[in-house]
Amino acid sequence: MLQADTYKEKGARKLLVQELKEKGISDEKVLNAIGSVPRHQFIHKDFKHLAYLDKAFPIGEGQTISQPYTVAYQTQLLQVEPANKVLEIGTGSGYQAAILVAMGANLTSIERQNKLFVKTQKLFKALQIEANLILGDGSIGYALNAPYDRIIVTAGAPKIPDALIGQLIVGGIMIIPVGDNNQQTMHILIKKPDGSMENIQLDQFRFVPLIGTQAW
Ligand code: SAM
Repeated sequence: MLQADTYKEKGARKLLVQELKEKGISDEKVLNAIGSVPRHQFIHKDFKHLAYLDKAFPIGEGQTISQPYTVAYQTQLLQVEPANKVLEIGTGSGYQAAILVAMGANLTSIERQNKLFVKTQKLFKALQIEANLILGDGSIGYALNAPYDRIIVTAGAPKIPDALIGQLIVGGIMIIPVGDNNQQTMHILIKKPDGSMENIQLDQFRFVPLIGTQAW
């Protein structure tokens, strides 16, 4: 299953980091994580040779591994500090999760598709990546490990799920794409001391849908 991390992969990752810098990613911690996580391990064998292109690829079950630019963009907005408790909704291939762990997050990541959950669990074991991987509906969060310093949603939501707001600490940050099935706006939400949310809206993206109780 694992394919060696050769000079070729290392060189390709450096070029990807350079490309992301040129596209506006400036956070050194994010760029270092992109430069260290072997994306080719998270990609279906048919696309491995393309792993360091800035492109999304199918991962099975109708889902995708997000484009590196999107991963870097969301991670930069999340402002993860080492030992932050982070909740990710939509584990998928595990690539975004591995980036967060590389940045020192204490990560809980939820996936609703059993096949993807099992595959990523095996991969994390093989790569010795430490994270709490959970099978379930992330639109209602994961109360057992709450509250979280950071929440990142990697699927397109029709609205901001109340459950996720409830599981964020005061001063915590949530990054979530919200919109219709074709296009979503990236939202940064910051929880204020009175429990209300500051809501900043940024660029447009296209994600697979968030499916669940507080989703589509
Ligand atoms: N972070 C992933 C990566 O790095 O590969 C991105 C995966 S894909 C864009 C979004 C994932 O969200 C899919 O694997 C999908 O099955 C999952 N998903 C959709 N709705 C969900 C929900 N309610 N709870 C958990 N996962 C969900």
